[in-house]
Amino acid sequence: MTGHWLEEALQEGLETLDGPELLKQAIAHVQLEDTQREQRAAKRISPTLISEECSLAAVKRYRHHSPQPGWEWRSVKRGRPSASSNMHTFRGTIAEGMVIAALRAVSQGEGTGRYPFQILGVSPTCVFEHESWSETQFQDPVTGWWGPLQVNYLAYPDILMLVEGQPELVQLKCPSVHAIARYKRDGPATVHKRYGPQAIAEMVIGRWMGIPISVNHVLLYAFEGTLPSSEENKSGRELLTALYSEFWEEGMERFVQMSAERIVELDQEASRGTWPRAYPVGTTWPCDYCNYARVEDGSGLITCEENERWETQRSTSSPAMPPALPAASSSTTAPPTAAPAPMLSSPPQLPAPSSPVVSLAPLRQIPEPPAHLQPRRS
Ligand code: SF4
Repeated sequence: MTGHWLEEALQEGLETLDGPELLKQAIAHVQLEDTQREQRAAKRISPTLISEECSLAAVKRYRHHSPQPGWEWRSVKRGRPSASSNMHTFRGTIAEGMVIAALRAVSQGEGTGRYPFQILGVSPTCVFEHESWSETQFQDPVTGWWGPLQVNYLAYPDILMLVEGQPELVQLKCPSVHAIARYKRDGPATVHKRYGPQAIAEMVIGRWMGIPISVNHVLLYAFEGTLPSSEENKSGRELLTALYSEFWEEGMERFVQMSAERIVELDQEASRGTWPRAYPVGTTWPCDYCNYARVEDGSGLITCEENERWETQRSTSSPAMPPALPAASSSTTAPPTAAPAPMLSSPPQLPAPSSPVVSLAPLRQIPEPPAHLQPRRS
């Protein structure tokens, strides 16, 4: 069996932990929470926001537009509850817990020590935060003063680990069997296109916090094994996995800064009533998978372009429910929307970034792996 050491560690971890213990640890993982989420900045640049293809969807998400005005739901497609989205979210969540448990089982410190890494933090209790000021100057509509705006970055890397003394990230993805087959057939460029911006943004935000991350591995795994007749199975591999590593490069910081600045700019334009254009009606990707509805379907859905319906709703205390949609679940709601960030009345001095709230220990306190352990890296 040959593959990246993370793929091998995953297979070996699933051979090390028996089912009942695996399930117990996976359930413990999915119950983790970021207990300070409500205290974090309401408007924030996340890695998934940077990877958002549609500018309109990006600015709507930044302004906390829910799938329909006044109606919150997590598993949605086209402005409606989605059974498949619910199933895929569930699969991804529980599979993430399973993979982390399996990797812990063969790691140093917590497991057999067979592989030379230590898990330092996992989402959502491992939090990367960074604040900076925009390069672009914006005008306060009230005072007329020009100045930069604060940009708040927030990321929840799936795994932060120490590998041979170096901090590395792992992004966990559990797509369909077909998607993994396609990634394997089409090569790393397709994985980079799909997940690269998110991987880069996580690395950049972590580095801004002072953690010298040099690589973010995207580990993809199907929620089932290889087919018995497949070449992979014959070679001894039971799991259907793929791995793509995004290595640190000069220019990544600039990419993240420019992407964030663009979202902040779009947000300012939206406050003045100018919104990005929606994709043409009939566009399948990304519209068919979007949280918002591109078209009205005869049931009273509000379309993604009717932004005033969200903006008006934000200022009312008891928004009306959209017709023909189920009642909202308070347990799945996003944080409440805050008012647009205030314009600065005078050009500020760039302050030192505030201390981020993180659950991982400072790196200098983390013991390095014993020197005698040899790496098993491909
Ligand atoms: S439905 Fe399409 S155009 Fe509208 S916000 Fe979503 S991706 Fe953008």
